Amino acid sequence: MTKRFVYADNAATTQVSQHVVDAMLPYFTKYYGNPSSLYSVGREAKKPLEEARARVAECLGALPQEIYFTSGGSEADNWAIKGVAHEMAKKGKKHIISSKFEHHAVLHTLDTLQKEGFEVTLLDVYHDGLVRVEDVEKAIRPDTALVTIMYANNEIGTIQPIPDIGAVCKKHGVLFHTDAVQAVGNVEIDVKAQNIDLLSLSGHKFHGPKGVGALYCRKGIRLPNLIDGGAQERGKRAGTENVPGIVGLSVALKDACDTIEERRERLTKMRDRLIEGASKIERSHLNGDPVKRLPGNFNMCFEGIEGESLLLKLDFAGICGSSGSACTSGSLDPSHVLLAIGLPHEIAHGSLRLSFSDQNTEEDVDYILEQLPQIVSSLRSMSPLWDEIINGKK
Ligand SMILES: *Cc1c(COP(=O)(O)O)cnc(C)c1O
Repeated sequence: MTKRFVYADNAATTQVSQHVVDAMLPYFTKYYGNPSSLYSVGREAKKPLEEARARVAECLGALPQEIYFTSGGSEADNWAIKGVAHEMAKKGKKHIISSKFEHHAVLHTLDTLQKEGFEVTLLDVYHDGLVRVEDVEKAIRPDTALVTIMYANNEIGTIQPIPDIGAVCKKHGVLFHTDAVQAVGNVEIDVKAQNIDLLSLSGHKFHGPKGVGALYCRKGIRLPNLIDGGAQERGKRAGTENVPGIVGLSVALKDACDTIEERRERLTKMRDRLIEGASKIERSHLNGDPVKRLPGNFNMCFEGIEGESLLLKLDFAGICGSSGSACTSGSLDPSHVLLAIGLPHEIAHGSLRLSFSDQNTEEDVDYILEQLPQIVSSLRSMSPLWDEIINGKK
């Protein structure tokens, strides 16, 4: 096949769709007023803001007054977790339950709370990439303030038993937050039916713009102000609203929710064909449950190679993917997610995540399946680690 450009890193971010760009543009140029102003150019910006809120609420099964717009998923996670923690601490509840493979927006928030004196229980994640409901229930104590478990993991795509976790939390009277940044638009969400008290989402993960997200917070939960100032977001998050961004997020979310089933079918087929093809590479391992995962998520390890070298070679071939490991302070740490599901360091190093959106095609899968095996074997031919593996020393 001739070289092509394949963007397969949609879990990192997505391209803003043309439909969303078109919906946003008038709010930069024509309806540029401040939504808080009383004259018509301001009022013209207020109405779409409230329409956007209603649109987001409808996609989640929430009420419009339960939706707060934020600057993204990280902010929504921080607000939900710190907000509930600080509120519950007043009642002497200072214990939080989460899992070992959360996004850093959650894990680092929990680190901060620990330094403030909160106690955090991080549940184990099993080899299939799933948290167990029984473990959540066992960890709940009389002083538990909050359970926060992600809906779908951003690296291995595994979808957690969120409605069941929600039910257990409800039974014990504990608040439940979920970082649903990867799940929203890919998995049907109904916050009431699934017993979710707080939920974070982010526009740029479903073909909306970057720098805008939302927090759903169930009516009746006391959520402290995030930013003091004007009366925006019911006084809880002051600052002139990002009208184009909020409109863009809401349109992108509606588009995603309207097409969820057909996309799931198409992407699952592509994903499974990719997994099947790549599994023919010797000493390769699929990470996470093969079925309970996001439709567009592929994550595999290839023994004897480094994820970074694989990414560079894929990039050279025109393929954008990602690897779990992050280069921190000069040393290469394997992904905390892959370690949490029990992979040994040396295998976790050779990981590759490819994530599809509806902009990908079957031809993209063909091209990846042509390039990937060649690249893996050329890297292995230069790898002393691979020699050790096949000579049976490892
Ligand atoms: C991307 C992501 C975030 C962060 O969202 P931003 O809008 O980039 O701040 C948080 N959690 C998960 C699971 C994500 O995938």
